[in-house]
Amino acid sequence: MSSTETKCPLYKKCGGCQLQNLSYSRQLSFKQVKVIKLLGRYHHVNEIIGMEHPYHYRNKVQAAFGERKGEIISGVYQSSTHNIVPMDSCLIEDEKADEIIVTIRKLLKSFKLRAFNDATMRGFLRHVLIKRGFLSGQIMVVLVTSSSEFPKESQFVNALLSRHPEITTVVLNVNNKLTSLVLGEESRVLYGSGYIEEELCGCRFRISPKAFYQVNPIQTQVLYGKAMEFAGLTGKERVLDAYCGTGTIGIIASKNAKEVVGVELNGDAVKDAQVNAGLNNVGNISFFEDDAGRFMVKAASKGDKYDVVIMDPPRAGASLDFLKSLVFLSPEKIVYISCNPETQARDLSYLTRKGYKVRKIQPVDMFPHTEHVETVALLYRQ
Ligand code: SAH
Repeated sequence: MSSTETKCPLYKKCGGCQLQNLSYSRQLSFKQVKVIKLLGRYHHVNEIIGMEHPYHYRNKVQAAFGERKGEIISGVYQSSTHNIVPMDSCLIEDEKADEIIVTIRKLLKSFKLRAFNDATMRGFLRHVLIKRGFLSGQIMVVLVTSSSEFPKESQFVNALLSRHPEITTVVLNVNNKLTSLVLGEESRVLYGSGYIEEELCGCRFRISPKAFYQVNPIQTQVLYGKAMEFAGLTGKERVLDAYCGTGTIGIIASKNAKEVVGVELNGDAVKDAQVNAGLNNVGNISFFEDDAGRFMVKAASKGDKYDVVIMDPPRAGASLDFLKSLVFLSPEKIVYISCNPETQARDLSYLTRKGYKVRKIQPVDMFPHTEHVETVALLYRQ
């Protein structure tokens, strides 16, 4: 691909792949420079690890449904707007997921079901969310509708399954609110177990519709591998996995640690994490549903001790409460995984002023063609 070539015809309209006008190697340089600019003052930045095949890497695909000139459309929201860009396939999404979404759009027509209209708050299907286990082969389809009354429900599900027997579970999720959130509160399993399982770093994980799971499974192995290398566990450590999601990092770490504690705000993810510990026969891990900052303040006041804290906060980074208590708890090592080097730079500034020194920084390209970059930093207590 030359530097001006664009592979996706919707590149400009969609806006999701901000860097698609650059060749992949230029994208990697762009991200490397961005990380050096933000984090380079703390330590040398290792060379970013890119993907061999940077396409169709997303295991989670979401399509918005709507109607235009009487026809049902499905696609993605144009960047920072609520306009649907109609789309049948995307260069970064799983291809099977895209095929299933097109099938659902065709089925709606034959079942005389309407797509939801945000302006009138009428119509039925709002979104389709698909999660696919790349290694397990399991596929979950979540139909997000405005009502739990699903006309010809079982016929619809049967028609979908007969066209895609590879689907392992179908879930109905009801979202009848005026909201930009995709999923609503109420869910009902229409077929299968209501979740999928996936393998990662030799462990098995349950993924339910709402729980966070890394969207690029190939690069997640690379990222977690680096995090484990940086943590350098020997089997004797007490480890905290903060912002643990479904417990993936903590469960992988538990094999080489004395004990692991995970903390996570999302209750569904915590339930998955507990199941995941069982699936992997891990007995030295416990999970807590709490705000990570509040949990850390309590841990600090109880005089808890951790040798290693692995933290993986959302884009906003860690709260000041979290960081203050982290310094108070004073683990020997901190492994800080971040999907936003800007907030990571802010948090590293705090930690380095409070007695920590950055020893390693590794960027990983988890989101090719987009402007996003993931980094993992290792800090030592001075
Ligand atoms: N480490 C996990 C999840 C990382 S994503 C993995 O690699 O899969 C960040 C996670 O932080 C999400 O699961 C999100 O629900 C959680 N989170 C967001 N705000 C939080 C808070 N204030 N306290 C604890 N967890 C939080």
